[in-house]
Amino acid sequence: MDPKELPPHFENKLDEITSSIRDIVEIESPSFGPDGINEVVDWIVSRAKEAIPDIEIERIAAEGRGEHLVIRAFGDLPGKPLFILGHTDTVHPTGSKEKNPTRIEDGNLYGCGTFDMKANIALMLEVFKSMKALGLRPARPVTILLACDEEVGSETGRPLVEREAANADYCFVFEPSAKGRIKTGRKGTSGYTLRARGIPAHAGLDPEKGASAVLELSKQIIAVSELNDPEAGTTVTVGTVKGGTTMNVVPEHAECTIDVRFTSLERAEKIEAALRGLSSDDERVELMLEGEINRPPMERTDAVIRLFEKAKGLAASFGYEIGETQVGGASDGNFVGALGVPVLDGLGIEGDGAHRLDEHVVVADIPKRASLLTLLLTNDLSEA
Ligand SMILES: [Zn+2]
Repeated sequence: MDPKELPPHFENKLDEITSSIRDIVEIESPSFGPDGINEVVDWIVSRAKEAIPDIEIERIAAEGRGEHLVIRAFGDLPGKPLFILGHTDTVHPTGSKEKNPTRIEDGNLYGCGTFDMKANIALMLEVFKSMKALGLRPARPVTILLACDEEVGSETGRPLVEREAANADYCFVFEPSAKGRIKTGRKGTSGYTLRARGIPAHAGLDPEKGASAVLELSKQIIAVSELNDPEAGTTVTVGTVKGGTTMNVVPEHAECTIDVRFTSLERAEKIEAALRGLSSDDERVELMLEGEINRPPMERTDAVIRLFEKAKGLAASFGYEIGETQVGGASDGNFVGALGVPVLDGLGIEGDGAHRLDEHVVVADIPKRASLLTLLLTNDLSEA
């Protein structure tokens, strides 16, 4: 099939596709909301059964979170699977759809969790459905994993992501694009809480007997902030601070949270060592650090660059231009990249407002994005 015939095909299907997107977006599925998540999983399973021949479904329950979904298809094809990764949870609590109703306005499809990333799940299913109708098959077996706790750090999704990545040749992540651009690199993330415990005292009667946790923590925050190295791509941000009980007491407790982003694991380990090595200025105040490296960086390796160049060429075959970018935000793609599997992340429909109440995708991009996905699936992008 001539790639140039794909956009008009999906153009004709646009109403069907947008109505499918609206359906999945209407089911609210916040992280830690198992009922909504499972309802979304039910919806996906029933659509996938129609769209993809001979699928194998695995639903894995995560306590208090809902179910992770694995779909395997085209197992009769040779080669290791292409791994498609996404998530069913959103950051929006139940009831948010009153504030950002699912609707099309000014060429955008608004709704909570459209851009990040339910519109992309619906689109992927529509692409498989069209492939079936057009008699197209993917280039290799396909494994789809839709995790249910990506937005809250993937504590239970991570082992599944790594299990499937270990067996895959390359991976597409259907996270939001960056103004249409594909993400070929992501920083890794760590999160910590630094606590200080001092000695409480009356601020008027005997302040000298006290050791202020707030004062000590303030000094530590300056030291922590000095670990920033923007040129090396390392950022260290103290995001929240709390401490003390009331105005007239030398505070016993204080704590802050620290967000760290990095482009290599080596740097992450150095920062962690520096945080663990912090020592108090007032030795009566005890410092305690909790936390760890969460997601490793997704590095822009040579294999990633080659994969991107192939995708770019496929897009160009029907006159679609795609760019690439590297971002500070992490996704489950980071876990895949860390295993040496080349990843194209941010393959989702163009849009804006991730994690906000004006979240939307651009309707005009849907036929082009669907055409690109069709080509990415039907062409073998592996090195061999
Ligand atoms: Zn996401």
